[in-house]
Amino acid sequence: MPGVTIDKNHCKGCELCVKACPQQVLGMSKQIGLKGYFYAELVDGSRCIGCRICAVVCPDVAIEVHTHGTSFVLFDY
Ligand code: SF4
Ligand code: SF4
Repeated sequence: MPGVTIDKNHCKGCELCVKACPQQVLGMSKQIGLKGYFYAELVDGSRCIGCRICAVVCPDVAIEVHTHGTSFVLFDY
C-alpha cells in the first residue's frame, strides 16, 4: 500500500493537494502547524493509489509519496 507523508510544518494550507487527489485521501486538519496554517492531513490513507498528484501540485514540496508503483485500484463511492 502506498504511503503519504505530509510535513505539517512546511504546509501553508493552500488545499491544492486536497482538491487534486482523485481518491479523496486528504483533508485539512483542525490543528495549525509552525507556520500558523491549518495543514493537510490524511483522512483515509487506505484509499491512496500512489499516483503522486498531491506531491506534484504541492507548491511547498511538503508531501512525499512512498510506493513501488501506481496501484490502479477502483473504489466504490
Ligand atoms: S498519491 Fe494520489 S491517491 Fe494518494 S494521496 Fe496523493 S493524490 Fe491522493
Ligand atoms: S498542497 Fe502542500 S502546502 Fe498546500 S495544503 Fe497541500 S501539503 Fe499544504
